Amino acid sequence: RTVYVNGDYLPEEDAKISVFDRGFLFADGVYEVTSVLGGKLIDFEGHAVRLERSLAELDMGMPMTRDALLEIHRRLVAENRIEDGMVYLQVTRGAADRDFAYPPEGTAQTVVLFTQSKPGLADSPAARTGIRVATVPDLRWDRRDIKTVQLLYPSMGKMAAKAKGCDDAWMVEDGAITEGTSNNAYIVKDGVIVTRQLGPEILHGITRAAVLRFAREAQMKVEERAFTIEEAQAADEAFVTSATTFVTPVVEIDGVAVGKGAPGPVAQRLREIYLEESRKAGI
Ligand code: PMP
Repeated sequence: RTVYVNGDYLPEEDAKISVFDRGFLFADGVYEVTSVLGGKLIDFEGHAVRLERSLAELDMGMPMTRDALLEIHRRLVAENRIEDGMVYLQVTRGAADRDFAYPPEGTAQTVVLFTQSKPGLADSPAARTGIRVATVPDLRWDRRDIKTVQLLYPSMGKMAAKAKGCDDAWMVEDGAITEGTSNNAYIVKDGVIVTRQLGPEILHGITRAAVLRFAREAQMKVEERAFTIEEAQAADEAFVTSATTFVTPVVEIDGVAVGKGAPGPVAQRLREIYLEESRKAGI
């Protein structure tokens, strides 16, 4: 597999990052994951815009133009023959002597991209059966809108959920669901789609934005507000969205079946619309 590191396209075994990289020492970096369907990048523009915002929030600039980033994405997809899968992009503040203070202006950022092939990505078993989630307290920092590589807590949450026989965790703060470990969370009650409003408490999902747009275009009702575990357990449906899972039904929350305990019609319809429209708009 070919990977991209700081200007070079290399076989993955030849790629090197400094042990002093601030991404490694301080989780001082941000990332994006763009899915690939039929060899096309899904919502590249949205991911590029969010990357720029995440970097700016951490006083970093874009390492190169959007077009240059797109070019790297495309070359890796082509060279690695990715039909369905994803492109991972990470930008860190670069390598410098270990110091909590940021390194001097002009320190080169580290830019890494790689691909992962996932044949049949759009036809996962989870989409057909739905997933089961367990709730955990949301102990992350207060700037979850910045897509940093500090992913230890969500990783622990996922492990805690798996230890309970579930597929993923939903995180809870002040009695309300914030989001999943790596996805945005939704419920459907009496035909109304409810998902938490944007703010620093959640990542502003690119898939979320697209799905809400498609839902409104299809005349479905959407409410952007916080909801509780109890409300979610009493909902007709629940689902999650992310770049690599699209729209995936949630059929159980903390051992309580949601609705009929099977993927619901709203989630299924949104998944179909999302996949169809995304494939059409892919570049
Ligand atoms: N929330 C969190 C915490 C995430 O990690 C992700 C995926 N990276 C999402 C939501 C979904 O975002 P997107 O739709 O842009 O993949």
